[in-house]
Amino acid sequence: MTAALLFARRGFATALVAPQVNLQDARTTALLEASVRLLRSLDLWDALEPRSAPLAHMRLIDDTGRLIRAPEVTFDAAELGLEAFGYNILNRDLNAVLMAAVEAESGLTWLQDTAASVRPGADRVDLSLASGTAVAARLVVGADGRESLVREAAGIATRRWTYPQKALVLNLDHSRPHSTISTEFHTPTGPFTLVPLPGCMSSLVCVVEPETADRLAALDDAALARELERRAHSILGAFTIAGTRQLYPLSGLVATSVASARCALVGEAAHVFPPIGAQGLNLGLRDVADLVETVDRARRRGEDIGGAAVLARYEATRRSDIASRTAAVDLLNRSLLSGFLPVQALRSVGLYLAGRIGPLRRLLMREGITPRAARLAPPVWRAAG
Ligand SMILES: Cc1cc2nc3c(=O)[nH]c(=O)nc-3n(C[C@H](O)[C@H](O)[C@H](O)COP(=O)(O)OP(=O)(O)OC[C@H]3O[C@@H](n4cnc5c(N)ncnc54)[C@H](O)[C@@H]3O)c2cc1C
Repeated sequence: MTAALLFARRGFATALVAPQVNLQDARTTALLEASVRLLRSLDLWDALEPRSAPLAHMRLIDDTGRLIRAPEVTFDAAELGLEAFGYNILNRDLNAVLMAAVEAESGLTWLQDTAASVRPGADRVDLSLASGTAVAARLVVGADGRESLVREAAGIATRRWTYPQKALVLNLDHSRPHSTISTEFHTPTGPFTLVPLPGCMSSLVCVVEPETADRLAALDDAALARELERRAHSILGAFTIAGTRQLYPLSGLVATSVASARCALVGEAAHVFPPIGAQGLNLGLRDVADLVETVDRARRRGEDIGGAAVLARYEATRRSDIASRTAAVDLLNRSLLSGFLPVQALRSVGLYLAGRIGPLRRLLMREGITPRAARLAPPVWRAAG
């Protein structure tokens, strides 16, 4: 929806092929700086901000119980001159605001359907939709998730991997205020992360071994709340489970290329990694911003917007951001699982130094919310709104 809105606002004849929007998704997304800027440029932030909770502080607690433990570190957004590192919002609220914008956008045709086949040709791509409708386009944006049909049609291969972990995901009411602090306990089986939501609520991503996740998910609400409060060392007081719980086996995927045969991939069609560090959708929105920018420049130069040269430029823009985010999330997760003492020592020393050395701490905070490359890129998409 974000890609479709941006292309339409830039005056491209745009069709969005997507089924009904998911207005039940109880997961949350922590939108980081560049994503907020992008949504602001679409004039959507005023509607989103009141439904989100600012994340002004980030606390990391080593709960591994191991011989070598990292000291507790708290990062403050104010140290970077920011009100917050990001804003946590329910996916269903984000989707509702985006859907309303899509419906109101005059230059955008929303075909509420799914693509059944995608056939790239020399000068256009032909799509057949499930209803039988035919659509042709000079450029197709594959924003169709981890099992992307567009990726397959463009002949792009993937590398996939799994982790010996599952994430239990749910929202909680708690008796003590979160004070805009996001807290991440590092446990030997993965992170246990509480992220503020508006009011006295937080979202929880609890990464554990698959058997433990299944056992927790089978508990009744009261027993589960007690067990999670114990794991959170009661820092937010008593828990009450709010709504449904979901289980996600942890896995990763990276496409060997983000563009080929008049098709450009964004989001999980191009990269999937575990829900650690609030990176997935934020990286996907940076794909979208870079793609729109690259294609718009090509049009101004009179180039074929789906041509090989334009796709190669998009590929070059995205390569290092995707590779570095995928590697960082993988490294963080594996460093927790590692029983290897030197790895544990390295992680602990890294956090110790981050806590003590201001410039290093600020560098880590900056890179965590937006990579240097994205900060240096010309912010032309701001003009889109
Ligand atoms: C528990 C959890 C917590 C997370 N928290 C965060 C966070 O805090 N911050 C963050 O940045 N990221 C987070 N993520 C990651 C984030 O949710 C994903 O990166 C994001 O949802 C991917 O979006 P996407 O649009 O690329 O793919 P998807 O959400 O998978 O959407 C793909 C869409 O394509 C449609 N589609 C598929 N096939 C077709 C077809 N043939 N024709 C038409 N449409 C089709 C589907 O219906 C779907 O709507 C989290 C993930 C999880 C699991």
